[in-house]
Amino acid sequence: MAGNPGQPPIQDGAGFHPIWFQPRNQDAVREELREFREEQIRAERRRADRLRHQHEMHRRPREHRLRASELRHRVYNVEKIFADRLENFECALCKTYIVNTEFEDHLEACAREKGVSENQTNLTKYHFLSQPYFLEQEIFKIREMLEIEYLEVTADREKIMDMHCVICQNPHDHKGGMCYPDRQKSAFKLKVNHPVQLYMAHYENWLFYTKQKGLDEIEEKHAAHFASIERFMTSEQVDLRQYINFNMVSPDIEKIIQYRKILRDDGLEAANNFETVAFPDLPPPEGPVAVAPAVPAEAPAEAARVDQQMEEYFQWFQEQQDQILGRNP
Ligand SMILES: [Zn+2]
Ligand SMILES: [Zn+2]
Repeated sequence: MAGNPGQPPIQDGAGFHPIWFQPRNQDAVREELREFREEQIRAERRRADRLRHQHEMHRRPREHRLRASELRHRVYNVEKIFADRLENFECALCKTYIVNTEFEDHLEACAREKGVSENQTNLTKYHFLSQPYFLEQEIFKIREMLEIEYLEVTADREKIMDMHCVICQNPHDHKGGMCYPDRQKSAFKLKVNHPVQLYMAHYENWLFYTKQKGLDEIEEKHAAHFASIERFMTSEQVDLRQYINFNMVSPDIEKIIQYRKILRDDGLEAANNFETVAFPDLPPPEGPVAVAPAVPAEAPAEAARVDQQMEEYFQWFQEQQDQILGRNP
């Protein structure tokens, strides 16, 4: 690249043209100049694009440019485990958010400071311990332990006697590395039962203390009522005289009870017979209600007509009597 001293060097396809120094007519020169500038602009754009592309490539995660052999030490999905440790959990006692790793220590101190009941402290404690966080961390600890053991054996096979094993039947097999190809899978499956059961126990405890809290609330709400009925809850015998005024009880109470039992067991007729004996002062009981025979529709009109006739007859009969006996109406 020669010429144009004092000018910045022209890059990227905008080559030097000796045309500048040749006497040409003005139109041709202008045309050349325009093309030259356009080419300069295009070159500038290409450069900007390339820089942008390089920048984007640079921004990509490092994994994309690492070889697989460089990633051997990486632990799959470990980011979440460590991120979770920095998450917060709300302390129900002081309503502040505490980092997960410090929560249990905080809760102990907080409960002592606030002087809250053991039930309430346990409720918060087991609520925290029955979060997935607890289980995931415990499983990760097991995984970490077993993986490190496995890697140590890979580096130094003498260390296999320190490696957890659930497959080998005897130390000889184990020393021979029979369980090594299993990559600690069986050991992991067995070990992981413990945190899972612990987690379930925490969850159960949380439910228990939630129930306890509800009971406490109910008791608090209805304490006055419970106090009023408390004496019924005891096994001590209560003196019925404070509830029944025996002076007001009918002296016939035994007869009444007997009557009700006869009515229950033997029916109404027997009860009525008993009543006439036991309560002679009462008017006699009414007999069973007679069921009226079914009457045809024209019966009432007929009956009314007969009544009318009978009435007229009685009137005539009385008049006859009065005349015979000489009485005035
Ligand atoms: Zn607290
Ligand atoms: Zn083994």
